[in-house]
Amino acid sequence: MDIRLYNSLTKKKEEFKPIKKKEVGLYTCGPTVYNYPHIGNLMPYIIWDVLKRILKVKGYKVKHIMNITDVGHLTSDADDGEDKLVKASRESGKNAWQIAEFFIKVFRNNLSNLNITEPTKFFRATDTVKEQIEFVRILNEKGYLYKTSDGMYFDTAKIEDYGKIANLANVELQEGARVAKSNEKKNLTDFAVWKFSPENKIRDMEWESPWGLGFPGWHLECSVMSRMELGDTFDIHTGGIEHLTVHHPNEMAQSEAVTGELQANYWLHNAHVKYDGGKMSKSKGTFVTLEDLRAKGFSPMAFRFLILQNHYRKPLNFTMESLQAAQNGLEAIIREIAFYGKPKGRCDKFEEEFYEAVADNLNTSKALAVFQKVIDADCKDSAKLATILKMDEVLGLRLDGLVKNAMDISDEAKIILDERAKARDAKDWERSDKLRDKLIALGVEVHDTPDGQKAIHIKF
Ligand SMILES: [Zn+2]
Repeated sequence: MDIRLYNSLTKKKEEFKPIKKKEVGLYTCGPTVYNYPHIGNLMPYIIWDVLKRILKVKGYKVKHIMNITDVGHLTSDADDGEDKLVKASRESGKNAWQIAEFFIKVFRNNLSNLNITEPTKFFRATDTVKEQIEFVRILNEKGYLYKTSDGMYFDTAKIEDYGKIANLANVELQEGARVAKSNEKKNLTDFAVWKFSPENKIRDMEWESPWGLGFPGWHLECSVMSRMELGDTFDIHTGGIEHLTVHHPNEMAQSEAVTGELQANYWLHNAHVKYDGGKMSKSKGTFVTLEDLRAKGFSPMAFRFLILQNHYRKPLNFTMESLQAAQNGLEAIIREIAFYGKPKGRCDKFEEEFYEAVADNLNTSKALAVFQKVIDADCKDSAKLATILKMDEVLGLRLDGLVKNAMDISDEAKIILDERAKARDAKDWERSDKLRDKLIALGVEVHDTPDGQKAIHIKF
């Protein structure tokens, strides 16, 4: 069974054929580190993590590169507005470097909490300015750029099929949203690769360049970093659906202008997460972070479970109720598998179906349904557990750890359990029930089985 991926470039699901035999080059557009990511920002990294995991199962080594934008991403994706980090800095009284440092830590913590494997390499935009300047120099030398009063711009008319990934040639471009304030742009879709610092202001982040003091345009870093680490053409490029119309066409245009090659063969885009049917926004109080969810007692794994129940190309409508349902579902799985004993053998009748589902353009919801079939299967518990843990290497729900954690009963509860065993031996049911209530108050559930009491304490 091969991996099949929906490629935004060809607009169809295709069999994945890597450039190298056993290695995959993967690039993901990373975050702009000026604020806490909301849960919708974090969702795609869970999906690309599953992609990496299934590639590994299929025997590929994955070289994964991700950028961290710490300079040059303006409040509008076109080239007007303020640098997001400069704005955050003005609002918080910290400098742009401190803002970036802080939110990089937050982001990496979030990844770790969600059991997302880190990329092979993170690049900060500010760490590759030298290489970005060199890239701009080549673009300029090849005649793709022109100068305006506020920067060096890429002339998109020079790329014959500019915007092919989004069919931009057929899209009527909206005025306003994409037009710079200056009328110096030759085409609506032209974009800055180098922006000049304002004349009478010192920026926290600015560099000398052959064209003047300034900073790189936001789209540039991905073209530069992917080429540095993965070469002129690599296998898979991932990002949010919002990148389909501006950021990715621009990345592709720059890369093709410099190398003459297609930047990546497969382009994957995730749909967005909505909150109660609307956009996540600070003003509406619908800007929810992973920290918020944890403070409400939700496990990051419940969020991961919820994300996997949906297909990544379909918008997900997040509600607290849906998260609660996911957490309940996860608890039910833990409760079910906690007493399976030691993993041994294999309950393999559903394994192929499971991997087939994930390999089919990451159909994680189907994979979860197959996963449930294993739990319900007519196999030995130890064999079911072995298969479940194997499947979890792709799902990444940390089931092994969650079960161990649930089996960890406090000394206080153990003493009560001993007392309760004695009460039951003496057929003192009243005392037994009282002691059960005491255990419940401690969060410990006790089940009476032919083998005696079994206790579990689910904690996230
Ligand atoms: Zn990018």
